[in-house]
Amino acid sequence: MYAFTLERPSTTADAAKLAAAGAKVLAGGQTLLASMKLRLSDPGRLVDLSNVKELAGIRREGNAFVIGAMTRHADVAASAELKSALPALAGLAAHIGDRQVRAMGTLGGSVANNDPAADYPAAVLGLGATVVTTQRKISADDFFTGMFSTALNDGELITAISFPIPKRAAYKKFVQPASRFALVGVFVAQTDSGVRVAVTGAGSGVFRHKGLEDALGKSFTAQAAAAVKIDAADLNADIHASAAYRANLISVQTQRAVTQALG
Ligand SMILES: Cc1cc2nc3c(=O)[nH]c(=O)nc-3n(C[C@H](O)[C@H](O)[C@H](O)COP(=O)(O)OP(=O)(O)OC[C@H]3O[C@@H](n4cnc5c(N)ncnc54)[C@H](O)[C@@H]3O)c2cc1C
Repeated sequence: MYAFTLERPSTTADAAKLAAAGAKVLAGGQTLLASMKLRLSDPGRLVDLSNVKELAGIRREGNAFVIGAMTRHADVAASAELKSALPALAGLAAHIGDRQVRAMGTLGGSVANNDPAADYPAAVLGLGATVVTTQRKISADDFFTGMFSTALNDGELITAISFPIPKRAAYKKFVQPASRFALVGVFVAQTDSGVRVAVTGAGSGVFRHKGLEDALGKSFTAQAAAAVKIDAADLNADIHASAAYRANLISVQTQRAVTQALG
């Protein structure tokens, strides 16, 4: 690990000032510390958000849940309010990594990192959530810009994410057994303004599938999802699965998600 300095502010305003001055944000360290240990990252100056209490917590605001960026996966998974009103999100958090990762990993860190096989980006995009930052509000459709990249500016911090509560939703992940990330994960949500289907693990980043959204908008059934042909052309192929295998998984996981959403 290269040498670095560590600052631990207790307010978002102080953290934002340090980030604007070039410090790298440390959330739960589940990605950042590992990359520093491997000398893949050399931030020089870290600003640790774990003392900023106002960045953690889950609250209901009208027909949405607003979840602070520093809320740990384990707290999302355990939230009784979420389990009752938005079980797809609590269930997604409950199946991220292992117990240690869930105890430390954060919503903001996961979404800012935008790993192409991460789970939360599928929920953010699938629910049409809004990412609240120290500078603005960014809609999910504008936030994820590609592999490990987002619309965040340098020094811009995620403070919270607002998840609208859908009529129905479910997330189905086919787990890559070594990492527990998604080989393919599909988040399906039926909302007042239509059906959204977000896919993770299959491409260079999370994406919406228009063909599945159109079919499920007409008929929200597993049969309607099964009738959609999934094009494998732009999908990932690696030692874990071919593009054709991932295409089939998108179909299967969507059918399973719709079945689960229908109860
Ligand atoms: C063994 C293992 C298994 C895992 N399995 C899964 C899995 O199954 N599914 C899954 O989705 N994920 C998985 N993860 C990832 C994990 O869930 C974390 O969410 C992810 O590693 C980010 O970690 P973190 O929240 O600790 O953020 P950090 O590692 O502290 O930060 C990650 C990046 O985000 C930036 N950042 C952090 N917070 C903010 C903020 N508020 N605003 C702006 N930028 C910010 C940091 O500067 C850094 O660039 C796994 C990780 C490990 C180590």
